[in-house]
Amino acid sequence: MPDVGDLLVFAIPQRLRYHPGVPTNPAQRPHKAAMPLILYNTLTRRKEPFVPGDPSRVTMYVCGPTVYSYAHIGNARGPVVFDVLRRHLAGRYPHVVYARNITDVDDKISAAANAQGTSISAITDKFARIYREDTAALGVQPPTIEPHATGHIREMVAMIEGLLASGYAYAAEGHVLFHVPAFGQYGQLSGRSQEDMLAGARVEVAPYKKDPADFVLWKPSPADLPGWDSPWGRGRPGWHIECSAMIAAHLGETIDIHGGGHDLIFPHHENELAQSTCAHRAKPLARFWMHNGFLTMDKEKMSKSLGNIMTVHELLKNAPGEAIRWALLGAHYRQPMDWSDELLGQAKKTLDRLYLTLDQAKSIEATRLAAPAAVIAALDDDLNTPIAMAEIAGIARALKAASDDADKARLKGELLAAGAVLGVLQQDPAAWLKGSLSTSVDAATVEGLIAARNAARKARDFKEADRIRDEIAGLGVLIEDRADGTHWRMAG
Ligand code: AMP
Ligand code: ZN
Repeated sequence: MPDVGDLLVFAIPQRLRYHPGVPTNPAQRPHKAAMPLILYNTLTRRKEPFVPGDPSRVTMYVCGPTVYSYAHIGNARGPVVFDVLRRHLAGRYPHVVYARNITDVDDKISAAANAQGTSISAITDKFARIYREDTAALGVQPPTIEPHATGHIREMVAMIEGLLASGYAYAAEGHVLFHVPAFGQYGQLSGRSQEDMLAGARVEVAPYKKDPADFVLWKPSPADLPGWDSPWGRGRPGWHIECSAMIAAHLGETIDIHGGGHDLIFPHHENELAQSTCAHRAKPLARFWMHNGFLTMDKEKMSKSLGNIMTVHELLKNAPGEAIRWALLGAHYRQPMDWSDELLGQAKKTLDRLYLTLDQAKSIEATRLAAPAAVIAALDDDLNTPIAMAEIAGIARALKAASDDADKARLKGELLAAGAVLGVLQQDPAAWLKGSLSTSVDAATVEGLIAARNAARKARDFKEADRIRDEIAGLGVLIEDRADGTHWRMAG
């Protein structure tokens, strides 16, 4: 059964359309909004009003990258979507604690270090740094906390000891395994039946497992792999226990929102949920579970193993991060999204137009306003960014058409406030327009032509001045002569 919300994603209800002339009340802070925030909860499979455990400290955890190579554009969808959620929550609640981990112990990392003849920390430091830089270029604010798995081995060992003591786990041949049949609710998040899970697990069942569905909490490490001393010998943690231990260490036993890509629902999040619930005397791990849909390329899943990836790092060489962000937010986060050059080109053009509108209103001082109610309402409806973006376009059209300075000041204020919630439109418009141009035309060339034109005008050689003006226009550049000199920008 499709969720009703899925059917509404691309329709813009009348009540959400932008109504010019209805000023946002500056005194109305967004977190006092009358409408509840509605989020789709993977656990209950429906949209529900979001109610945090403690409104004075909203907690959110998103599974972060395993740092052994460049993130691809699919990997960036989650960080961008959850960044919008975090900004939206920050408008409603005074304190949002957002943790996104770094997985810095993993067999893929060890293999990369071996292949490149370097140390594990050289690999993890390099790719964690690149991840931070590339996501920052997409306008993603750094998380409040960025826990590293290797910094929490003690907490993982303690949690595993607790699970052993309470009978949910057992040790066998240097491994410690979580015993799935001991947790009756196993499968509740993914909705998988025991048979589904066993069918997948039966392919290769390790001899030390009591049940084929049992999963690893701790495994032995040979001398050439990273390892830590533990009550079960030298070893390393399983992937799932890392997140459970880091969540408990930084955010508490029950958090408000746990997020990730939808491929993480099973087994990663199902296993996190099982371990944490059993370790914390049946307390739920998260009130809300949220999962972003996958990015495809030519309708095929983008993944490192298929080799059809496009890295964020490469894309950023040819496109502004904000255009990549706009493109990623152009579909509802739970829908699949097909990535293409056209999609990115369209996003860039839309931003060019929005920045041009802001540039044309540069002499107007924006009224300081809260984000417009229609934009907030769109985000309150399970983070409906496509509708919020349509609202932004509507505000920009109204700003462009406005003739009254007071209207312009209000609309400019609304445009900037709406942009801030989505993490866009906060750059200097003139700088954006120049940067936008510089991918095809060199700014120094334009400035040289302007100087030549001004020299021709000074010499009263108007024919030459007009010729240069045409040459500049031919580059797609608009110039404007003002009292303080000649200004230029890309034609919108
Ligand atoms: P991986 O590179 O498979 O370790 O994935 C890292 C993160 O990116 C996980 O949260 C995945 O859910 C997410 N992810 C991987 N591939 C995609 C994709 N094509 N579209 C959206 N998210 C993805
Ligand atoms: Zn995780």
